[in-house]
Amino acid sequence: MFEGYRMIDLSPELIPGEEDRRLEIRQYIFELDNTYMTDIDIMSHIGVHIEAPSHYKKGLKDVSQLPVEDFLGDAISLNVESVGKGQPITPEDVSRISETGGVRPRDILFLHSPFEGDDVPFISRALAEWMAELPVKMLGIDMTVGLEEKDQMFTHDFLLRKDIAIIERVANLKDVPERFVFIGLPLRIRGIDSSPIRAIALVKEG
Ligand SMILES: [Zn+2]
Repeated sequence: MFEGYRMIDLSPELIPGEEDRRLEIRQYIFELDNTYMTDIDIMSHIGVHIEAPSHYKKGLKDVSQLPVEDFLGDAISLNVESVGKGQPITPEDVSRISETGGVRPRDILFLHSPFEGDDVPFISRALAEWMAELPVKMLGIDMTVGLEEKDQMFTHDFLLRKDIAIIERVANLKDVPERFVFIGLPLRIRGIDSSPIRAIALVKEG
């Protein structure tokens, strides 16, 4: 399986003591058989993670309630540099930038740019609506694209209410070609609003 594909790791390595979010590990000896075990104490939004609808509103689906097939599949990654610093990303931008025929229904859509901080382009309302209409399976971003226009929560509200999960803090997006297969499975823990994942891109060779 996966012969003819190379793998690109889209997960940042997390190092206890060096993260901006909660990550503590405590190793101990398990008395029954003298093996080592570790308690892991993390924020649910550590590293690359998948956010479920319950992140935004109580009563909406948690991570364990989303269909597992949504977490893997055909993916498209677009560099939205040409949208410009701090500008809204529109459905027209996405179609214009794609060199492989654009986003297809049930794709997992990744967006990235060379910008950072206040300069990042952001998801426009029109694009959020368009993604839900298509629909995409998930939206993935790193720190170079904003989910929201300043002081708004439209993208979270709109996508998560439609059970379209959001992947944040994806690493190495600049290294992937436009088309690949994505795999990023969250932990199946009832009640959690988000889960870290091991995110990978499978890229067809040749
Ligand atoms: Zn998050």
